[in-house]
Amino acid sequence: MRALVISDIHANLAALDAVLETAPEHDAVWCLGDLVGYGPDPNECIERVASLENLTCLIGNHDQAALGLIPLSRFNRDAGEAVAWTQQMIEGENKAYLESLPSKVTLNNFTLAHGSPNQPIWEYILDPLSADRNFAAFESDFCIVGHSHLPLIFHRPFENSFAMSRPIQWDEAMVLTPRMILNPGSVGQPRDGDPRASFAILDDGETTWEMLRIDYDVKLVHSRIMKAGLPERHAQRLLAGW
Ligand code: ZN
Repeated sequence: MRALVISDIHANLAALDAVLETAPEHDAVWCLGDLVGYGPDPNECIERVASLENLTCLIGNHDQAALGLIPLSRFNRDAGEAVAWTQQMIEGENKAYLESLPSKVTLNNFTLAHGSPNQPIWEYILDPLSADRNFAAFESDFCIVGHSHLPLIFHRPFENSFAMSRPIQWDEAMVLTPRMILNPGSVGQPRDGDPRASFAILDDGETTWEMLRIDYDVKLVHSRIMKAGLPERHAQRLLAGW
């Protein structure tokens, strides 16, 4: 089985479509949450994701906020404004879809969570220290998370060793060895300084993980964010990839 692994789409339909159109062959899609928030196309993104075949999809913190399950006070001002805008725009059927999503699942040897296996909605795994806190929270060999919008790989080669950060090798299938925490980066709002959409292909037969980037029309999304009256900061961040 080859899974297209995507996360943090954030209502960026142009980025999502670019990924879906150009992703290498796959027979399943794993989506790690935050379908909405920040961007101008929440309904279209939910509908597009929900229509994908062999989909496993999680709920993220922005999806929960769009449902009113998290108070706006937990977000910074700009993010809170985008949450309020999304709450107004999102259609009933799409709300129901988000409500139906789990926050964590285990598929064979892979545990999936939006933030971390410890705290699936809110915790960020950003460094070996936060990775170490989470290795005890999943039993499978591998855990895949999103939320930070950063492509990251942490490896703990022995049960009691410390986690090490592994460099990303773009466009190359890396053989996975137990145990690892992997983050495919963000489709719709990358924050590693590269504005291109980030995603991964997981091959569970070969046990490989390939990280990929794809260009899309960032300027178009910038102008759509501005036209929607969403905070300008979110549009600017897309251009810079921060
Ligand atoms: Zn996010």
